[in-house]
Amino acid sequence: MTVTDRHGRELRNLRLSVTDRCNLRCSYCMPEEEYGWLPKRDILDFEELSTLVDAFLLAGVDKVRLTGGEPLVRRDVEVLVGLLAQKRGITDLALTTNGILLGEHAAALKRAGLGRVTVSLDTLRPERFLKLTRRDSHADVLAGLEAARAAGFTHTKIDSVILRGTNDDELAALIEHGKQLDAEVRFIEYMDVGGATNWSMDEVLPKREMLERLRAEYGPILPLHEHGSAPAERFLLPDGTVFGIIASTTEPFCARCDRSRVTADGTWFQCLYARIGVDLRAKLRAGATREELAALIQRVWTGRTDRGAEVRLAEHERGALAPRDELVQNVHLEMHKRGG
Ligand code: SAM
Ligand code: SF4
Ligand code: SF4
Repeated sequence: MTVTDRHGRELRNLRLSVTDRCNLRCSYCMPEEEYGWLPKRDILDFEELSTLVDAFLLAGVDKVRLTGGEPLVRRDVEVLVGLLAQKRGITDLALTTNGILLGEHAAALKRAGLGRVTVSLDTLRPERFLKLTRRDSHADVLAGLEAARAAGFTHTKIDSVILRGTNDDELAALIEHGKQLDAEVRFIEYMDVGGATNWSMDEVLPKREMLERLRAEYGPILPLHEHGSAPAERFLLPDGTVFGIIASTTEPFCARCDRSRVTADGTWFQCLYARIGVDLRAKLRAGATREELAALIQRVWTGRTDRGAEVRLAEHERGALAPRDELVQNVHLEMHKRGG
């Protein structure tokens, strides 16, 4: 049964973070030297995560994406995938990963029933990767992408966050790499989310400019005019290649947003920018049934008014969402807790 919020938006899409740990330190996500981690006792086990997913399915969700932190650093994540793959209500079971451990896990994830993978890759240059992520793992990511294909994954996406002055000269190179792998590339505008403590508008390459640059390279680009809830707008190059742009910073898509997020400790956020979440773990561990949790989720969603990125766009003096001090107090605000 679907449920709509105050702006008529359905709840369809769940991003489930399975860990807040990560084996990279991307400059736009985890630029700090130290972080506060979710206490181990609060991290939901697979059975608890599975029950929460059941509750969201009852509440109307039909698409589930596993994320993190880095989801593949969670031990035996394939077991969770196997549990979720059996659920009839999920029409799309996907995982977003930085790809480092995909070489190791791709075949097992496929066997467990994972539908699709999205791999984050911002550069094709190893030295740039090291600078962007503070880890020397570029070759592992490329191998991970190959392994996904070898394991039989199709409809793979490559997500690239584009930062002006850092990797904005690689738009065409990333598209060409995607072509070789039969993967659709999506360019993501640098967002001022929690955790992006170094964010500045100067480093955002707006969708408009991405398109200008790609037109100069490839010729006319046709928009595909799809009207779904997917965040990416898709475009067609003259040679038939399709790519996407996620323009969350300069052209937010809040009006169509059907997604929400659960952190690895079971805190539910109805918006990427929300400062307060709902503690589903406490309810779950106090013995709430799937049906009771679903009723709560529906009740809360019905009152949802969030449109975080649009509100940010309207702000005149725009800087990082939260200063470092606030993140120490409220670790749930960080992108690597919320799963992107
Ligand atoms: N670790 C996995 C990965 O990187 O794919 C999954 C979690 S990560 C938080 C999910 C997505 O959020 C990634 O594609 C990442 O590039 C994106 N992301 C993180 N910080 C961002 C920011 N400040 N602006 C735009 N996208 C961001
Ligand atoms: Fe990078 Fe993803 Fe890790 Fe954030 S969670 S630092 S985007 S790999
Ligand atoms: Fe949805 Fe909030 Fe993102 Fe807008 S900012 S698209 S409401 S999650």
